[in-house]
Amino acid sequence: MSLSEIQIDSDALRYNVRSLRSLVGSGVKLIAVVKANAYGHGLATVVEALNGEVDGFQVDDIEELREIRQVTDRRVLVLGYVAREDIAEAASLGGELTLYDAERLPAMAEAGAKVHLKIDALLGRQGVLPRDLPEMLDALAAYPSIEVLTAYAHFANIEDTTDLVHAIDQMELFDCAFVAIRNRYPGLGRHISATSGVMTLEAGNDLVRLGIGTYGMYPSSALERQHAGLGLRPALRWVSRLAQVKTLPARHPVGYGLTYIAPREITIGIVPQGYGDGYDRGLSNVGEVLVRGRRCRVLGRVAMNMFAVDLSDADGARAEDEVVLLGAQGEDRISAEEIAIRIGTINYEVTTRISPLLPRRAA
Ligand SMILES: *Cc1c(COP(=O)(O)O)cnc(C)c1O
Repeated sequence: MSLSEIQIDSDALRYNVRSLRSLVGSGVKLIAVVKANAYGHGLATVVEALNGEVDGFQVDDIEELREIRQVTDRRVLVLGYVAREDIAEAASLGGELTLYDAERLPAMAEAGAKVHLKIDALLGRQGVLPRDLPEMLDALAAYPSIEVLTAYAHFANIEDTTDLVHAIDQMELFDCAFVAIRNRYPGLGRHISATSGVMTLEAGNDLVRLGIGTYGMYPSSALERQHAGLGLRPALRWVSRLAQVKTLPARHPVGYGLTYIAPREITIGIVPQGYGDGYDRGLSNVGEVLVRGRRCRVLGRVAMNMFAVDLSDADGARAEDEVVLLGAQGEDRISAEEIAIRIGTINYEVTTRISPLLPRRAA
């Protein structure tokens, strides 16, 4: 194994997809969202694990489309921004693009692009406002070589709350826009739900776009409680090895800024990972890792390439012992959620920010 690496449990990924499938009708297509290096899990590793399990994949941009085409010939939705000069290449790679403005219609038409029409139904992000839809449909009608596959929208406030008023308003607005679109394109498909959507509302989807749940994480703690029965299994382990173990005398400082001073003689281990690898500097003095199945607290500041941990509870720990920064070891597990709480963010960001330079390995 490499000194430090990301291990991906392919069985867990497949289990998660099957488990989420139980929430949607059997006719609904499952698209695994693998943007941002598959939420940090490693694009190729995840696609190889799920290629036989899902109906397609979703990426963000042309770079990700080029990369995913090395490993799959399944459908790929490219739902972020693709620059005008990249549209022909994206279409020739079989990317299904997102359509939300009229400016790029000529380039899309010339490329014979397949598109998903994005409606901004009270999200306030990418998409055509319902108010501007008639104009868009008229513009689109002038370009019959563009193949419209679906119309879709995205929920704005469904995981962080148990109050579904806004989500239902969004759905009603989207339903209404969809009727107008379907008048022009009979038989058109539609989709609105990501992981939190399938856990929350029946929304008449023809496909669902599953990101966080695929990786075995829940969109929020409320949805985790509500859907514990799905038994989603986190698929990622971030492992390294102790580079050095030593005993510091009492009153010895640890790391930059002298933010930790040994109160007594203490055994520490040096972990050869840092914020350059995506281990957040906010974990200085508060993070925990697993060594010999025991929790060991981060001591002092996390530096770019290394940090120290307290080995007081990890009896007999030695250099080269496995260190788990995220994931299970023995009976215990460091979750993305606990790290997220410590640094004031969400589980999505914790795994997504793991450096793409670390090797990913299917385990
Ligand atoms: C990222 C994204 C998803 C996936 O969301 P999860 O909460 O991770 O399931 C789905 N649809 C769109 C448009 C997205 O940007």
